[in-house]
Amino acid sequence: MPPQTRGTALRHRLAELRGPDVPAKALDARALAALAANPGCRRRAILDGAGVDKTALAGALGAPSAFGQSQFALTRGNAFEAKVKADGGAELLRLVREHLDPGAEPATRAAAVPDLSAIGPEGRTARTALALREAAQATEPAEDGEGGEGGESSQGGRGGGWVLLDHPMLALEVAGSPAFLEPDAVVVHPDGSWTVVEIKSFPMLDGSADPAKVGAAARQAAVYVLALEEVAARLDPAPRVRHDVLLVCPKDFSNLPTASAVDVRKQRAVTARQLARLTRVQDIADALPEGTCFAPDLPAEQLTAAVEAVPATYAPECLSACELAFHCRQRSRAADEVTTLGRAVRAELGGLATVEDVLSAARGESGDAADPAVAALRRAAALRAEALGVPCP
Ligand code: SF4
Repeated sequence: MPPQTRGTALRHRLAELRGPDVPAKALDARALAALAANPGCRRRAILDGAGVDKTALAGALGAPSAFGQSQFALTRGNAFEAKVKADGGAELLRLVREHLDPGAEPATRAAAVPDLSAIGPEGRTARTALALREAAQATEPAEDGEGGEGGESSQGGRGGGWVLLDHPMLALEVAGSPAFLEPDAVVVHPDGSWTVVEIKSFPMLDGSADPAKVGAAARQAAVYVLALEEVAARLDPAPRVRHDVLLVCPKDFSNLPTASAVDVRKQRAVTARQLARLTRVQDIADALPEGTCFAPDLPAEQLTAAVEAVPATYAPECLSACELAFHCRQRSRAADEVTTLGRAVRAELGGLATVEDVLSAARGESGDAADPAVAALRRAAALRAEALGVPCP
């Protein structure tokens, strides 16, 4: 089948899965980032690929998600972001320079903050691309080839000064349609390189923050890096998109901003791989029974059957990354799967997928004694019996 016909057929199939007259839910950076949190989940891949509203689906399944931020957290986050960007972004640019580009000249004069307002996401995306192009043109090329990937910026060729793009809009093509993404900020360094800035309201205590939250922020920033790289690739010469992003958080329990550079190379690679796989949602769709539909207005039993028709790989990490987590956790627990105990436990247990398999192997009723996981379980059972003074199972 010619690629164009195949693309049309896939779009048609995905629309069927979403349900008649159900509009596709646009993917945002958070949704794209969550793909990297559970790269093996086919259920999530097809639901996201088809543009299914997972929040509505979870509600219709009777397991509404407790996902998202409270109004209080949103208000506090917005107030903190406004403080960080006050005075033309002076403090933000100071943090970028201190953590990522100490060799650059300080932003002594007011940095350029281009107006990015336009009508609609497409207009804002075009306006952002224009601002980035203008910033690139204002930058003289670096001398002596310095300032390459991963290195510090060159001291030469700093003709452009600092530029702060406040809430730019970027587009990334996902499964054939554009996803519009809005980073908190993108900074153009005097050497012409670009940095993604993420501003979060969780605290950084003694210089470090909750690793789970930093991980989620890094995955989100990696999506922005990928989208920025697409803009950079259209310019000649292509500006360098830095793979160290700047994470700005409140310092300790105060409202003062502090920051840390986060290397997102790994998250970027995982997300890029996931997005490439999303374009092959055709394979997952082909494996589904005829008539499968995820429209939230269908009866719960029909929806449950549709969702269960796609294999999932539940892990506790889903709770902070996917709207279907409560439903998948319920099913995973009901099936007695060891994955509900965490990926690390699952990995340790090798081929033993359920709690019953594990207990049976520990009792010596099943499993290969040469399997290191089975041997360790039997040893643990013997030690437990010895400690408790009960017969060995
Ligand atoms: S919650 Fe379910 S659908 Fe979402 S990523 Fe986890 S296993 Fe997949």
